[in-house]
This record gives sequence, C-alpha cells and structure tokens, in this order.
Amino acid sequence: MSQSLSSSSHSGGIAAPVAIPIRALVPWAVFTVVLSLLLLYFVGAEQGATSLISGHAVHEYVHDGRHLLGFPCH
Ligand SMILES: [Zn+2]
Repeated sequence: MSQSLSSSSHSGGIAAPVAIPIRALVPWAVFTVVLSLLLLYFVGAEQGATSLISGHAVHEYVHDGRHLLGFPCH
C-alpha cells in the first residue's frame, strides 16, 4: 500500500487569489444585511406591540435564542 498524499497533477506553483470586484459583492452584502436584520427582528423584537404575526409560534421558535443572546423576554 503505497499511497502518496501529494498529487502529481499539480504543477507546484502557488495559487494566486482570485480578485472579486466590489460591484459583484454589493448585492450579496445587501442581501446579508437584510437577512440579518430580519433575523434580528424576529429574535429580538417580534413580540407584543411590534408583533407582525399573531400567536405564539414565532415566540416559541426563537425563545431559546432570545435568552441565549440576552434579549428581554419575560
Ligand atoms: Zn423567555
């Protein structure tokens, strides 16, 4: 059993990092911010006067996350 970890297909050169233009990153950054704010809203504020969804389903779902992150809950 003589299996080598080094691959013979590589030329041995150092791979250069791929340059990603800022314009290509902006939509993903905006998407991430919107998704994060939505998650932060549901974990931190989706209750009582600011509640968008009636019932306790959202509260029960994010309840442990609320306590973990220190948001006021009950
Ligand atoms: Zn609680």
